[in-house]
Amino acid sequence: MKYFKSLKCTKCGLEYSPSTVAGYCNKCRSPLTVVYDYSKLREVVSKELFEKRTDGIWKYVELLPCSKENAVTLGEGDTALIKCSKLSRKLGAKNLYVKDETKNPTGSFLDRGSSVLITRLLEAGFKGVYGVFKGNLGASLSAYSAKAGLKCIAFISGKIEASKLYQMIAYGATIYSLNKFKELVLGDDYFFADNADPFLVEGEKTIGFELFENMGFQLPDFIIVPMGSGGLISAIWKSLKELYYVGLIDQIDCKLIGVQAEYCSPIVDMFYSNKEGKDYRDTIAIDLAFEKPSRGAEAVKALKESRGCAFKVSDEEMLSASIELARNEGIFAEPAAASTIACVKKMLDTGILDPSDTVVCIITGSGLKDPLAALKELEKNMALEKFIKHKVKVKPRLGVGSTKILILRILSKESLHGYEIWRKLEEAGRSTSIPAVYQHLKELERMKLISRDKTEVVGGKVRTYYRITSKGLEFLKALS
Ligand SMILES: [Zn+2]
Repeated sequence: MKYFKSLKCTKCGLEYSPSTVAGYCNKCRSPLTVVYDYSKLREVVSKELFEKRTDGIWKYVELLPCSKENAVTLGEGDTALIKCSKLSRKLGAKNLYVKDETKNPTGSFLDRGSSVLITRLLEAGFKGVYGVFKGNLGASLSAYSAKAGLKCIAFISGKIEASKLYQMIAYGATIYSLNKFKELVLGDDYFFADNADPFLVEGEKTIGFELFENMGFQLPDFIIVPMGSGGLISAIWKSLKELYYVGLIDQIDCKLIGVQAEYCSPIVDMFYSNKEGKDYRDTIAIDLAFEKPSRGAEAVKALKESRGCAFKVSDEEMLSASIELARNEGIFAEPAAASTIACVKKMLDTGILDPSDTVVCIITGSGLKDPLAALKELEKNMALEKFIKHKVKVKPRLGVGSTKILILRILSKESLHGYEIWRKLEEAGRSTSIPAVYQHLKELERMKLISRDKTEVVGGKVRTYYRITSKGLEFLKALS
């Protein structure tokens, strides 16, 4: 707190006094960042000072925007840096490490940020925090609000993993559906938080400080970071720059690599072509799916300044990486977190990573957050094969529900587009919504029971036709 100089706009540079509690600039609506008095800090901090302390993220209190006496803590941080020997051999990267953030109190790296943000809100006299939460952030803020005696109000859409919603309910958050967001009027003593919040970033940056310490006060050649809002990669880049500003390193010799889901990859697209792509779709990594990432520009800057680059990985690659990490190293990561392991393969394939380089993957969240993802792997590989190979007559289950079977029956007669399929379902007395039909089609496609046939443009809109595959026909036959 002593060295907290100002909050500064990341775009227009406008500065705000340290007593301001805000996430965005009043003038240009860009995210703010915390600035410290680095020349004073140079005289105060040292490797020895941090080394002898043991209190998680709060050991770096000189570089945090609140006082330690007020800290709302659940024991976040101080997570293990684990050398992955088995996975290293399998992938061909000799020095592969993971920073295991699944061990934080609510199972994600966001606990570091929540600890700082909730402490700051408590210091400033706020009564509560609210936001539109995807999952991990809602779960984490609910827990820290409970500890601090603040209210947490979560607005959620239908796209949320059940386990993250259970966490919010258990920690006593008030849950509203997203359409209530504009209707509900909250007082000034309620703070709006999102993944790009500068106080969250301050907590999250301790990952970089810890990593530096874990590696014997050295930096790895590469750090691989999942990117959603761009908050975490901006935080890690800030930590490396601060290590330099306070004189703990002479140069930043560490490249940052950002990963996004291929279905929703605005930061990767901005990095390579200076503009966001279009038609982003749902991905299994819900916590990574930000179509308009608030810290996107900052994330691109971090990648460029560190001389790193960015990759996209598919849902299937994330799922298999999650299973591979669990089965080889005993670490169960959610697909969004396992995206970093999937990225190692791509880096080796493209020659960006030399087998002798030291690389650290940030495993941002626990697999227990999204256990159904692992089930999908089981469903995909075993249940369907069993249905088809042995033609076992079992009642449809494990995600191949009766609506999907009806869709398969409809498509077994002709190739159709989504709207026509919806109409045929209605005719057959199966009332459902059009988005639900597309969700079914997506899942059937993932199971390889249907595939895309042709597209046509009608009135400026693209129509995609779907057809049943031979695997789909065999599946129907096995059921009959
Ligand atoms: Zn501004």
